[in-house]
Amino acid sequence: MAREFELIRWIRERTRIQGADSLQGLVRLGIGDDCAILDSPPDGRGWLMTTDMLMDGRHFRLAEGVHAPELVGRKAMAVNVSDIAAMAGTPVAALVSVALPREGFDAVARGLTRGMRQEADRFGIVLAGGDTNLWNGPLVLNVTLIGLEPSSGAILRSGAKPGDVIAVSGPLGGSLPSGRDMRPQPRVAEAQELLNALGPDLHAMIDLSDGLGGDIRHILTESGGLGARLRATAIPVHEDVRNHFAGEVASDDAAALRHALSDGEDFELCFCVAPKAARRLPRWATQIGTVTDSGQLTVEWGDGRETLWLTGGFDHFRSFGA
Ligand SMILES: [Mg+2]
Repeated sequence: MAREFELIRWIRERTRIQGADSLQGLVRLGIGDDCAILDSPPDGRGWLMTTDMLMDGRHFRLAEGVHAPELVGRKAMAVNVSDIAAMAGTPVAALVSVALPREGFDAVARGLTRGMRQEADRFGIVLAGGDTNLWNGPLVLNVTLIGLEPSSGAILRSGAKPGDVIAVSGPLGGSLPSGRDMRPQPRVAEAQELLNALGPDLHAMIDLSDGLGGDIRHILTESGGLGARLRATAIPVHEDVRNHFAGEVASDDAAALRHALSDGEDFELCFCVAPKAARRLPRWATQIGTVTDSGQLTVEWGDGRETLWLTGGFDHFRSFGA
């Protein structure tokens, strides 16, 4: 037990609250008591809360020696930050629970803490509490992240309207074979830039964790069963797709797009914007299509064909005339 207490002290020394002048001042009490205490958010804003569990063998490979604990800690924090970004919020405080493999737990815990601390520092997040356990199983860790709602209100999935322009914050696909899936770059600043530029014309937003083709359906469903028409030539395909699936992409025109739509773990933002506001989109945003009232997700090709996008692929048998 002595090593566990020493470990907790070591972690605590790395989680000091920085100052009352920043958002971190909203964390009145951090690690060290039975609970952390957060003050009420200013200006009637709400707290955003999100949680994500990562398991060895499923979301990363630590026991096999593929991923270092620092990288795992960084990803565990970053995927939660990405969810706060998706609502245009600002991350403030994290609670971290870990089930550590008994063998070598000390080095794993320290590596995890360094990785989480590094990512938390990038976004001014306080590590406000957590729970450390040892067991004979593989590493499991859960991060709960609390963020501040923007003063004009969080951007929900449910606000899209027919005619809205759909845009993304960056190129998609090929994240897993390139290892980019372990190094998400949460788009907190970009989301806030969007909100500043667009105001109430920013209708809906989501972060892309499972792939555009699936995640955009969450927006369409939550917005009342809407559809979307994506332009195949406009969707930015990440260079990782060409680098890691060269043979497949060379022999099949649709293959690169299939990767962009379904690989997942891109952690870019996808958002829906009133058409009149599209010219106010920042330069890094790429317009990829339009929200429709069809209830279907379709892809329009350069030659005028339009095909349905079903889970995992294009339905070439149901192409529509131009
Ligand atoms: Mg999300």
